[in-house]
Amino acid sequence: VTEPCLLDSLKGKLLHHHSMEKFTSWRAGGAANSLYIPKDYDDLKFFIKQLPPNESLCFMGLGSNSLVLEGGFDGTIVITQGALMGLEKTSALTVTAGAGVSCAQLARFSAREGLTGLEFLAGIPGTVGGALTMNAGCYGGETWDRVASVELIDRSGAIIARSAKEFSPTYRHVDVPDNHFFVRGVFTCELGDSAHSLKTIKSLLAKRNAQQPTNWPTGGSVFRNPPNDYSARLIESCGLKGYKIGNASVSEKHANFIINEGGATAGDIIALIDHVSQCVYDKTGTRLEREVRIIGEYNDLV
Ligand SMILES: Cc1cc2nc3c(=O)[nH]c(=O)nc-3n(C[C@H](O)[C@H](O)[C@H](O)COP(=O)(O)OP(=O)(O)OC[C@H]3O[C@@H](n4cnc5c(N)ncnc54)[C@H](O)[C@@H]3O)c2cc1C
Repeated sequence: VTEPCLLDSLKGKLLHHHSMEKFTSWRAGGAANSLYIPKDYDDLKFFIKQLPPNESLCFMGLGSNSLVLEGGFDGTIVITQGALMGLEKTSALTVTAGAGVSCAQLARFSAREGLTGLEFLAGIPGTVGGALTMNAGCYGGETWDRVASVELIDRSGAIIARSAKEFSPTYRHVDVPDNHFFVRGVFTCELGDSAHSLKTIKSLLAKRNAQQPTNWPTGGSVFRNPPNDYSARLIESCGLKGYKIGNASVSEKHANFIINEGGATAGDIIALIDHVSQCVYDKTGTRLEREVRIIGEYNDLV
């Protein structure tokens, strides 16, 4: 942000050299050069428009799949969680949600409206923007199976509407043009039964609690599952459950989760990710691919 008069017009919160620890579910990580929490959509447009074009820009939701390296992010991170809101039934079978709405809110809202198809999202601890970016999924459901259309914001602050047909989502991935960020999603459901959908949500959450270390700070599944196999199975087969570097350890409950036992640094977590990946490769010949997004000092998103 260059001109003080422009700064005065911002309605959101602008922070400098701010640790991302509180903005990621790992509760670890370096600082963002600038961090912006917009007040609303108009404020976001205004903020983006006045950013220098060469400023690196990244969006984050609940930070449940992200780790900022200790060297920090030399650019601006926009936090959508709690900012880009709005959740409504926009036709008989569609629900429109802002990028900052949580997946749980979207799932419950749709269920209460008597719509079915989004129950699987209830236990994914992220935002709509994060779910669209990651094509988040579980228990047989994937985000993009349900997307009718999206809206993105570009670096000029313009909002661009796109049909789902213009995207080719794959497992935990969708290609998005550079410097475009999700601000809304429209989801298609089927007519369902509210009580039944809410019951489904309850049982999916119970299943998740039984399988995952949900009471620890984690970044979710660290590695994507290789074709026809499970990363957790491979990691466990290498005897890595409980393996620790610094204050980060491989979860005893689910081997594809790394937990922060308290005070773990991004460095501890990265070292453990590398160690696990190397061990699995050495012992099984499988190269695990990282699912977690590393946001790094060289302004790169991996
Ligand atoms: C306990 C636990 C369980 C999990 N279980 C699952 C699971 O079952 N299935 C699953 O798929 N995932 C799971 N995850 C991972 C994670 O919750 C999902 O990937 C989720 O979709 C991430 O959402 P987020 O808002 O937290 O994204 P963030 O971590 O904030 O961001 C993820 C990526 O999306 C980008 N991004 C975020 N918002 C936007 C936006 N508006 N526009 C453009 N880019 C954006 C970020 O730059 C980053 O690259 C789990 C995580 C945890 C901690």
